[in-house]
Amino acid sequence: MEFEKEKSWFRRWNRCVSLRVPVGILLLLFGLIPMILGIQTVLASYRQVQIESRMTEVQNQCQILSSKMTRTGYLQSEDRNSMNSELEITADMFHGRIAVVDQDFRIVSDTFHIAENRLNVAEEVLRCFRGESTSSYNRDKHYFAQTIPVYDGTDAQKVAGVLVVTSSTEPILNLGEAVESKAFLFQIIVLLVVLLLASFAVTLLLKPFREFQDRLDHVAEGFLDTDIRAGTYRETRDISEAVDRTLSKLKEVDQSRQEFVSNVSHELKTPITSIRVLADSLMGMEDVPVELYREFMEDISDEIDRESKIIDDLLALVKMDKSEAELNIAQVDLNKLVEQTLKRLRPIANKRKVELIFESIRDVTADVDEMKLSLAISNLVENAIKYNIEEGWVRVTLDADHKFFYLKVADSGIGIPEEVQDRIFDRFYRVDKARSRETGGSGLGLAITRNVVLMHKGAIKLNSKEGEGSTFTVRIPLKYIA
Ligand code: ADP
Repeated sequence: MEFEKEKSWFRRWNRCVSLRVPVGILLLLFGLIPMILGIQTVLASYRQVQIESRMTEVQNQCQILSSKMTRTGYLQSEDRNSMNSELEITADMFHGRIAVVDQDFRIVSDTFHIAENRLNVAEEVLRCFRGESTSSYNRDKHYFAQTIPVYDGTDAQKVAGVLVVTSSTEPILNLGEAVESKAFLFQIIVLLVVLLLASFAVTLLLKPFREFQDRLDHVAEGFLDTDIRAGTYRETRDISEAVDRTLSKLKEVDQSRQEFVSNVSHELKTPITSIRVLADSLMGMEDVPVELYREFMEDISDEIDRESKIIDDLLALVKMDKSEAELNIAQVDLNKLVEQTLKRLRPIANKRKVELIFESIRDVTADVDEMKLSLAISNLVENAIKYNIEEGWVRVTLDADHKFFYLKVADSGIGIPEEVQDRIFDRFYRVDKARSRETGGSGLGLAITRNVVLMHKGAIKLNSKEGEGSTFTVRIPLKYIA
C-alpha cells in the first residue's frame, strides 16, 4: 500500500518535473565534474612529483655518502664512528633509515641500530652487488627503498658494499592531505558559486518559456487576441506558432458557431414573427369573413410547416455532425433507390410542369446508408425542381466505374451565379431568399447533402451558369472503408 503510494507519487513527480531540474543538474555536472577531476589529477601528480624529487634527492645524498665511504675506505676501516654519525644525520634528514651491507652480506651499520651483524641477502642487494642500483616505491605502505653501491677504494669497478636506504613518504602524504583539505574548501566554495550561477542561468534559460506561459495564461483568461509568439529560441518559436495556428482554428470554430447560433435563432424567429403578424391582424379585425379567416389560417399553417422543416433539417444536420459511426452501411441497389426517390418527388415536379428523367447507364450496387443517401438525392432533385423554369427538365444520371459511382443531377433551371457557388453548401445560405421562402426551403438542404456525401467518403461538385441551369455531381466509393 505504502509502496503503491510512493510509486504513484514518483510517477506524478516524474511526469511533471520542472525543466529547471534537469537543466540545473546538467549545469552543475558540467561545472563540478571537470573541477573535481582537475583537482584530483593535480593533487595526484603533486604527490607523485614530491615523492620522485624526494627519491632523487635521497639518492644524490647517498651517492655522496657512498663516494665518501669509498674514499675513506669505510668498509675496511675499524673506526666507522664519524661516518656512521654522518649516515645518521642524513637518514634523519629524510625520515629514513640507512643500512650498510658489506661483501659478506652482513650489515655493518644500521642507523636504527637494530639489524647490525645480521645478514641481508635481499634481491635488491644482490642486484646492487652486480653493479645495478635499485629504487622502488611501495604505494601501499608509504615508503620507498633504494640501494646504492659503495665501490672499493682500490678497484673502482668492484662493489665492496651496498647502502640500503628506506624512507617513509608519510610526511609528503601528510602535506598532500593538507593541500587536499584546502582544495576541499575550495571545492565547496566553487560548488556554492556554481549553484548560484546555475540557478541564475536556469532562470535566464527558461525566461522565454515563462513569458510564453504568461501569454498563454492571458489567452486562457479570455484575451484571445494576445500575441503569443515567442521567438527567443527556435523551439519556443515553433511551439508558439503551432499554438497560434490552433488558436486561429479555435477562433474560426468559435466564430462559425456564433454565426450558426445567430442564424438558427434568426431562421426560427422568422416563421414565428409571420405567425404573430397574421394572428394579430386577424384578432384586430372585427366581423372577419370566414374565407379571410381560412386564408389567414392557411398562411399560419404554412409558417408552422416551415418552422417544423427547419427544426427537422437542423436535427438531421446535428445528428450527422456527431459521428460517422451512426452510418448504417449496407449493400444497396442504387438504381432502385434513385427510382424510389424520384417517384416520391414526381408529384412536385408535375405540379411545376418539370420533366423528371432518370438515366441509368448501368446497374449499380454500393455500400451506403440508404436513408441518408436517399435524403441527399432527394434534396438535390427537389432543388433542381424548385429552382427550375416552367416546363423545364431535371435529368438524373447514375453511372459507375470499378471504384466509384457517380450521380449527376442536371437541371434547366435558373442556375447559380459563379461568385456564390463556393457558399452554396453553407448552412442557411440562399441565393434568393424570397424564392427559397416561397418554395418552403430551410437553407439547410445542400449542407445536409454535402455532409451525407462526406460521411460516405465521397465528393460533391457543382457546375452552373446563371440562367442556363445547374449540374450537381456526386462521387462516392462503391466499397465503404471505415
Ligand atoms: P433551400 O432550402 O433554400 O433550397 P439549399 O441548401 O437546398 O436550401 O440550397 C441553398 C440555395 O442554393 C438555395 O436557396 C438556392 O438559392 C440555391 N440552389 C440550390 N440548388 C439549386 C439549383 N439546382 N439551381 C439553382 N439554385 C440552387
